[in-house]
Amino acid sequence: MSSEVDKAQSAYKSKSTIFDKIISKEIPADIIFENEKCMAFNDVNPQAPVHFLVIPKKQIPMLDDASEGDQSILGELLLTAKTLAKQRCPDGYRLVINNGKQGCQSVYHLHIHIIGGRQLNWPPG
Ligand code: ADP
Repeated sequence: MSSEVDKAQSAYKSKSTIFDKIISKEIPADIIFENEKCMAFNDVNPQAPVHFLVIPKKQIPMLDDASEGDQSILGELLLTAKTLAKQRCPDGYRLVINNGKQGCQSVYHLHIHIIGGRQLNWPPG
């Protein structure tokens, strides 16, 4: 099993995650965009030349937890990801949301991975 799968197997929902600490600036991150609703920063363990995350400032642990009331923030996340990705990966990119153990989620604060800067393969593992 890959270390990402190991991490996902042992991860769980908690009141506060490392991403909350990035939002509050308790710990540093390579932030590339921020507004009142969301934030984008480079992934600390990049899987491609471009690999950043877009997260809501609101605590939504996983996509499963998003509700009707989250429509506007979900749209904001997608549009923010698109705007930043278009600048960084003009030839194409991929958005990924890992949800739960079998989805390989290891940080329980909703995030979109944006990956690009090289030819990506399909299907993913
Ligand atoms: P996985 O770890 O399997 O990719 P997730 O979809 O939950 O599961 O992704 C969490 C992502 O957060 C990982 O890509 C990881 O490298 C990244 N990450 C963890 N801590 C930090 C951090 N402090 N700064 C930036 N990225 C981080």
